[in-house]
Amino acid sequence: MPLEEYRRKRKFSETPEPKGRKHTAARRLPMFVIQKHDASRLHYDFRLAIDGVLVSWAVPKGPSMNPADKRLAMRTEDHPMEYGDFEGVIPEGHYGAGKVIVWDTGKYESDAELQLTEQLVRGEIKFTLHGHKLRGSFVLIHTGKRATVKSRANQWLLIKHRDEHADPTWHIETPTLDRSVLSRATLHAG
Ligand code: MN
Repeated sequence: MPLEEYRRKRKFSETPEPKGRKHTAARRLPMFVIQKHDASRLHYDFRLAIDGVLVSWAVPKGPSMNPADKRLAMRTEDHPMEYGDFEGVIPEGHYGAGKVIVWDTGKYESDAELQLTEQLVRGEIKFTLHGHKLRGSFVLIHTGKRATVKSRANQWLLIKHRDEHADPTWHIETPTLDRSVLSRATLHAG
């Protein structure tokens, strides 16, 4: 059920993206993935594994390690767990057409007492990332909760908390941050 929208938008005979199977939530630390996606508008897809699916947000400017940056994050449809290591080119004319690389991935853990599912429902998720590029404590806050305009209802903010990993000089366009952490590919070459 949670993957219905994901599947409805795609033709799996024509796109290399995974269809996804049923997954039970793992007992180990959950994983997160951030995919850099060269679609009609370049963006970063931020995904947290919660209850066996990748709960997903499109972040136009990408995440930031600077606590002063509040990054707009638009909630999108849940993706299957198999999407976590998907890299490739979604064909022209298909939903999300363009190249995808795994920009960062790793484990994450909740920073709050509440279950992640409950934090998601309440619209405030506090977590610590253990990634290659992103580390430390973050929050996702649902700001569009009471919005009457549908497009605003999906609005969240992704913000870095102040901790030892925070970096006010951090910039996502830094060349050393460009590559896939899985294949070393960039969006523009090879
Ligand atoms: Mn995307």
